[in-house]
Amino acid sequence: MLSDAGDDAPRYGVLGWPVGHSRSPAMMRAAGLRYQHLPVAPEAFDDTVRALHGAGFRGVNVTIPHKPAALALAASASDAAREIGAANTLSFAADGSIAAENTDAPGLMAALGDRPVRSALVLGAGGSARAVVWALRRAGADVSIWNRTPERAAGLDARLVREAVAADVLVNCTSVGLDRSSTAESPFKDLPLNADELVEYTTVVDLVYRAGGTALTREAAERGVDTIDGLEILVCQGALSFTLWTGLAAPLDSMRAAARDADTQLDAP
Ligand code: NAP
Repeated sequence: MLSDAGDDAPRYGVLGWPVGHSRSPAMMRAAGLRYQHLPVAPEAFDDTVRALHGAGFRGVNVTIPHKPAALALAASASDAAREIGAANTLSFAADGSIAAENTDAPGLMAALGDRPVRSALVLGAGGSARAVVWALRRAGADVSIWNRTPERAAGLDARLVREAVAADVLVNCTSVGLDRSSTAESPFKDLPLNADELVEYTTVVDLVYRAGGTALTREAAERGVDTIDGLEILVCQGALSFTLWTGLAAPLDSMRAAARDADTQLDAP
């Protein structure tokens, strides 16, 4: 366990644009890091990151829209970051050189634990879907992918489908919030399946998170389907970044509690 992060402690943070909604600072502070939001516009990304080491930073997380730029900027990158084409974690060496990693992919697999993942259906083909497809394929899964704009999924290592297919795991990587209040018809109107079809999957994973869960995870749980929500994915990728920077095992329970508490506060009326 880290001692309390005082003014002379190494600094960490999360860069995004916007980034104020991120639960990472609450979660990483609970793990003992001196960690802050770093709102940075795309045009200022490179100069800001290069200045961070001099300001006492040892590492940063990177979120939308900076993940491809983070990979491009780094002097070295892991196979995962290179093959996915995006980095969510940067580490600064003593000489200021920057190394890129992608903990989104192993974070998903950590959240799945020992659940069977022989087959998967991925919804979406954006940045997070790229990491999810890479992780699932690497784990040996037979991966199908559906996207509203099919051509965007064409370059990914997965079978493009026009309608939902049954699988061990369903992973929602679209930004569809599936908020019941957002539509009078069905919260599933933007996806290729309805709530009753969720029983076709052993586990339903939603990368989107909100207080009380999304309609996707709620409807799946109501039907007895195992679920993993976006906060658990956030915690698992954050835990891997923490270990990369500190060499220590992450205090998962404290991180999980802080991420969930921040979620409740942010979404409270
Ligand atoms: P992205 O690159 O912007 O991709 C968005 C995806 O959502 C695309 O596939 C897009 O389809 C689809 N989409 C958007 N609106 C849609 C609609 N109305 N109907 C159907 N499909 C729609 O975003 P991303 O980085 O992949 O992130 C996706 C979501 O995952 C976000 O909500 C993000 O907050 C969340 N996320 C969570 C974590 C976590 O740690 N829990 C990590 C990463 C991302 P088109 O290609 O057709 O536009």
